[in-house]
Amino acid sequence: MRARRGYRRVMRVTLAALALTASLALPAAAVAATAPPKQPTALGTGGAAATVDPVGTGAAIDTLRAGGNAIDAAVAAAAALGVVEPYSCGIGGGGFMTIYSARTGRVRTIDSRETAPTAMGPDSFTELTTFEQQRVSGMSVGVPGTVRGWALALRRFGTLPLARLLRPGIRAAQRGFVVDQAFFDQTDAAKAIFADFPATAALYLDPDGTPRDVGTVIRDPDLARTYRLLARRGPRVFYRGAVGRAIVRTVRRPPLRPGATRAVRPGLMTRADLGAYRARSRRPTRIAYHGLRIYGMAPPSSGGSTVGEALNILAALAGRAGTPLGGLPREQALHYYLEASRLSYADRNAFVGDPAFFAVPLRGLLSRSFAAERAALVGDRALTSPVAPGDPSDDPRPLPPTDQVAAARSGSTTHLTISDRFGNVVSYTFTIEQTGGNGMVVPGYGFLLNNELTDFTLNPDGSSTPGTANAVQGGRRPRSSIAPTIVLRGNRPRLALGSPGGATIITTVLQILVDRLDFGMSLPDAIAAPRASQRNVAATEAEPAFLAQQDIVDALQARGHAFTEVPEIGAATGIEFLGHGVTQAVAEPVRRGGGSAMVVRPR
Ligand code: GLU
Repeated sequence: MRARRGYRRVMRVTLAALALTASLALPAAAVAATAPPKQPTALGTGGAAATVDPVGTGAAIDTLRAGGNAIDAAVAAAAALGVVEPYSCGIGGGGFMTIYSARTGRVRTIDSRETAPTAMGPDSFTELTTFEQQRVSGMSVGVPGTVRGWALALRRFGTLPLARLLRPGIRAAQRGFVVDQAFFDQTDAAKAIFADFPATAALYLDPDGTPRDVGTVIRDPDLARTYRLLARRGPRVFYRGAVGRAIVRTVRRPPLRPGATRAVRPGLMTRADLGAYRARSRRPTRIAYHGLRIYGMAPPSSGGSTVGEALNILAALAGRAGTPLGGLPREQALHYYLEASRLSYADRNAFVGDPAFFAVPLRGLLSRSFAAERAALVGDRALTSPVAPGDPSDDPRPLPPTDQVAAARSGSTTHLTISDRFGNVVSYTFTIEQTGGNGMVVPGYGFLLNNELTDFTLNPDGSSTPGTANAVQGGRRPRSSIAPTIVLRGNRPRLALGSPGGATIITTVLQILVDRLDFGMSLPDAIAAPRASQRNVAATEAEPAFLAQQDIVDALQARGHAFTEVPEIGAATGIEFLGHGVTQAVAEPVRRGGGSAMVVRPR
């Protein structure tokens, strides 16, 4: 299946090449030659891009070659990925972007997280007791943030107009992409949902309700038209115009097919909610590690605080051991990695949410003294989960009630990392939450809506506990795990990375940082390395290749660690800055069929 997914990507590129060669009337044999090879690493100068797909990476590189900067290129890539990765991302969702500006030498972040409509409250999901009922509803749809996020990023840091940057996406939507086995399987898993919504079925299913066959070309002229509208009229058409009205209609009156038996709870989104949506510029989280500065995404994402706390705990443990982590036996270092992650997850679950609604003790979570307290709990044997949260607050008031519901579901998302010849860097993760979002394509507009509001913490009856860090509330942004990360040495970028994978995003980014910075693996090796994810639950999730390291797994089990096998964790991309303008762009070699890395001027 993974191999076939890779095939699909090659086919997409070939299709684009076909369109080109057809118009140039070249012989068919020239087609394969014009398809750029998909490769997971690239070394060179002039700017770099790594995404999950050559269409996304190609859009970024074309933008850089045309004189755009990394922020321009990120928007172009994201718009193209919204077409060829429609189940993972798009304008119906939201995300978080971390940006290093060469001009200021500073890191900023842009929060375009989806937001709960004003009328929502703790009981909005009550009586929806299955995840599918919560997901496939109008209630799960947060006000989409992606378009405002792009606009804010371009306004503050970009050089090219949105209209120009939407062109690769418009072309991709017109030309289409070829269904491969993985896309078929993703559709197959969701076909009962998709079949209940005619606009979704028309795009992704055959008339008999089965997925479009492998090899079929999916074109999305409605999405091409939506992008053209955006290009002509700007974000207003999305938030205050025709697109917004269509979103509100879809959310409030889910467009079920006649005769469908599914009960779909309508949502409460209004045109005023859309009109009031703002992307936010936020200060990043920052910690020091091995003389580097590690910048991450602040709340409402838990990415920066949880990766940062875990690294601080690891630094404390290394201090206690009297040797850097890389000087310890691999098994002991992995034990520390799992324990640091377990403890930071307990704190994340208790204390991180939308800072506009919950006093997140961010400074405490990222302080060395708190990390030392947490590290003191780590012994030779694994702790028993769930471990209780610590007290990161220097505030004398009592701690808020905690919610300790384990974040176990994994959705679908995508991460892209881009740099330019001017020295700017973008690390951007964006999503519609589950694979296929809430299952509803906005009729006439060609994109899926998100189900991001299922990221709020819900009790078994679907209700939410007021006062907790991640409770449902009107105007609030649900807690995310998204962790777009940029590492500086002094004022210069050294590394940038991120990953999809729901709650495993945090452990994936953490593990790559540890493998790169402590164990001295190359970035390609660190991204390829087998993964394990401990999120304050009894059994650590681990990939088959991790479990195949028999000696290490035996030793970890002897310490009391338990494992449960999962096929795959995350799908990272990253860029390493090697000095003198030379960069190495890196995508996954295997996971999700492998990603695509390119540079402007290869070496
Ligand atoms: N909804 C997830 C989050 O923001 C991302 C989607 C996923 O990969 O599960 O943490």
